[in-house]
Amino acid sequence: MQLNIKKADQFKTKPDDSKLSFGTTFTDYMFNMDYNPQNGWHHPRIEPYASIDMDPATMILHYGQGVFEGLKAYRTEKGTVQLFRPRDNFRRMNNSARLLCIPEIDEDFVLDCLKKLLTIEKNWVPGAPGTSLYIRPTIIATDPFLGVRASHTYRFFIILSPVGAYYAEGFNPVKIWVTRNHVRAVRGGVGEAKTPGNYAASLYAGEQAHKHGYTQVLWLDGVEQEYIEEVGAMNIFFVIDGELVTPMLNGSILPGITRDSVIALAKMWGIKVAERRISINEVLDVHDSGKLDEIFGSGTAAVISPVGEIKYGDQLITVGTGKVGTMANRFYNELTNIQYGKTKDPASWIEPV
Ligand SMILES: *Cc1c(COP(=O)(O)O)cnc(C)c1O
Repeated sequence: MQLNIKKADQFKTKPDDSKLSFGTTFTDYMFNMDYNPQNGWHHPRIEPYASIDMDPATMILHYGQGVFEGLKAYRTEKGTVQLFRPRDNFRRMNNSARLLCIPEIDEDFVLDCLKKLLTIEKNWVPGAPGTSLYIRPTIIATDPFLGVRASHTYRFFIILSPVGAYYAEGFNPVKIWVTRNHVRAVRGGVGEAKTPGNYAASLYAGEQAHKHGYTQVLWLDGVEQEYIEEVGAMNIFFVIDGELVTPMLNGSILPGITRDSVIALAKMWGIKVAERRISINEVLDVHDSGKLDEIFGSGTAAVISPVGEIKYGDQLITVGTGKVGTMANRFYNELTNIQYGKTKDPASWIEPV
């Protein structure tokens, strides 16, 4: 397939590296590609960033048939630009697409297109410490139709957004709220897909947590409402008596690439790792017996997010010392050093642009 490039005749002013927030500014160009049953995925093109003109009946707007990804491009000290495990993102995007009855993309081709887009936009990759260029590949159902069925046509696009350091105010533990009234996803549902409905479904509990002064929701499973699944839109890890424990992937948990990287590093470092079911009551018990060393979340945006406090019903527990734990710190430093090219890449995770 031939990738077309349409030049922009107007360019935006780039924001100051030190004043970046998350997800508010977008670059000059985007990647677009269309799908229909006759031609499959076709007409791949890089063109000026623009609104998408839509019929009000467009299916994504009504039934949420869509999938997305989130990854980052990092500027190294030498000035080069690199990606962290991007093939895993496009593989996961296809896994999400299958669950949502969306036709799969050619992972290698799309990665090549992303690299070309990044080459054109390389001046948009910020260089200040902790900053990066956030990448959002997305597929949406585009049939203008009000019946419930899979769409016949789709749009795939990639947009880019320079983002600030997640821990601009320091790497501090967050307080989390365990919800007993809401679940994020259920086994047999679409919890393991990055699909819009999962995030819409998480908003109400998130607002409840904020109202009570908590940053994130700790999600329990949708069947017994007892086993821990995720924290906010991150995977979750516990350090219990020196061992790293994380909920096993069960279909309702999003298989995070950061999660996988933490597990891989732990194994390289000789830390014991268990992927298994872990109940909220087990967490309270190990806390009572003094064995709960640390809890932290993992995800592309924050990399590692230490948890300092958990509220479950009327029980409030402080994790460890309430400060950032040694493992959270070690994983955070190692992962960010790999991403910014300061440490040797241990497992072919880095993809130069
Ligand atoms: C994206 C996401 C994660 C983290 O995945 P990464 O690949 O590590 O960024 C975890 N949970 C949910 C619900 C997510 O959407």
